[in-house]
Amino acid sequence: MHIGIIQIKNKKIYIDKKENEIISYYYKERKKQNLSIQTLAILLKKYFFNRKNEVYLYNQDGYKVYKDKETGHKHFYKNNRQDYKKFFKENGISAIMYASSSKKDIYIACALIVAGQAIMYISDFIPDKLNEQLENNSQDQDSEKEIDFIEENNTLVAIDTDYIINSIRNSPYLTTTAKKRLINTEFFQKLSNIPVTEDRMMSLSEKLTDIEIKEFEEDQEQENSRREKKDLARIIGYYNALTPNIIYVDTLDNWDTINHEFIHLLQDDNQYYYIREAFAELLCEEYYGYPVDSYQPQVTRIKVLREIIGEQPIWELNFSGSTKSFENILKDYLSTEEATELLELFQTPPSSYTNSQQEQINSQIDELLSQLYYNMYNRPIESNTTINQIYDEYSFGMWIPIEPDVEDYNTIDSSKEVIGTNKYIKRLNNTENEMMISDSIKQKVYKK
Ligand SMILES: [Zn+2]
Repeated sequence: MHIGIIQIKNKKIYIDKKENEIISYYYKERKKQNLSIQTLAILLKKYFFNRKNEVYLYNQDGYKVYKDKETGHKHFYKNNRQDYKKFFKENGISAIMYASSSKKDIYIACALIVAGQAIMYISDFIPDKLNEQLENNSQDQDSEKEIDFIEENNTLVAIDTDYIINSIRNSPYLTTTAKKRLINTEFFQKLSNIPVTEDRMMSLSEKLTDIEIKEFEEDQEQENSRREKKDLARIIGYYNALTPNIIYVDTLDNWDTINHEFIHLLQDDNQYYYIREAFAELLCEEYYGYPVDSYQPQVTRIKVLREIIGEQPIWELNFSGSTKSFENILKDYLSTEEATELLELFQTPPSSYTNSQQEQINSQIDELLSQLYYNMYNRPIESNTTINQIYDEYSFGMWIPIEPDVEDYNTIDSSKEVIGTNKYIKRLNNTENEMMISDSIKQKVYKK
């Protein structure tokens, strides 16, 4: 288990704890390269603690609170000294898979434990150990060389389909059923077509080594009641990049959730939570045959986005380790303000927002997607039949989940509809559909 992961440009820096000391490293030519605590502090200062970018927000609990214009992070000062522990704590989010509290089989799904633009998660231990280094302004030549290397762009490599399959097969912790449920050659082949940075390759190899599926730890119930009070959905599964090879789930036979979390494990841990969440759920449907029963509004927008910009940039954003090509497309076709706004909206983790907040976010996204479409094709988005269908399906065509039978996908009865190979799903008739919609409006889960 890592106690921290920091992303600097395309490189991840891992922080572990060993005998009460911080050990940090990164990958250089596929080998672990240790990083001194001084260099780590210099990097943190350079990327996260740049006072020039900070603007004053307000006073709170005896702290002066500032916001960094570039990173969006909040900084807390007392007696003119930054409280680093509070910085890491307040800029972090915990992300997780959630179930609707009122209806057992309808899930609002999950996410990851990550924080802010580039910091993924930092435990209290790190700021304690780093405090002195962060206060000190020394710089040495060795650190400079190392920092240059870390900031350089990565070479691109390919992920091998067999490598993913064998990693799953070789895990001593997975049952035969689990291996069967996770392995999907069609999906892995698609993945192998996405060039990845070498750093991303090493991160993936940590994730794929000895994969484990674990049931929640007990304190999750407490977390759930806290979330319910805030009108947030319950947790049914999560993936945490700090335990890179572990999937957490409420019950070990909840395959829909396990597959969703497994896709999170394969994804790159970037800051585009909205897209990662929706795309995980969409891939779960398209490759594993589980209907979209969580994050439907978000999945709808990702399908529309895919129609507009094509699937390649979305796959790259999720799996390549670099977010540049995706960001550039939006910047090329939208004004600077619009592109910034849309990119920020795509960074909102749905699981941290109530349903009415999510509705607000989604209608802003709709407006910007419509503008993007117009700028790319010079006609209104309403003229696109496929996109109209995607929106209509979401408003009127509620799907209900049917547990796919991995043993035999071919026994499909007439009430189910085949969608592509190995996938089936039941489409509701109008009466059932209306009932579901009125139900969901009551629950504010599915409302558009
Ligand atoms: Zn999720």
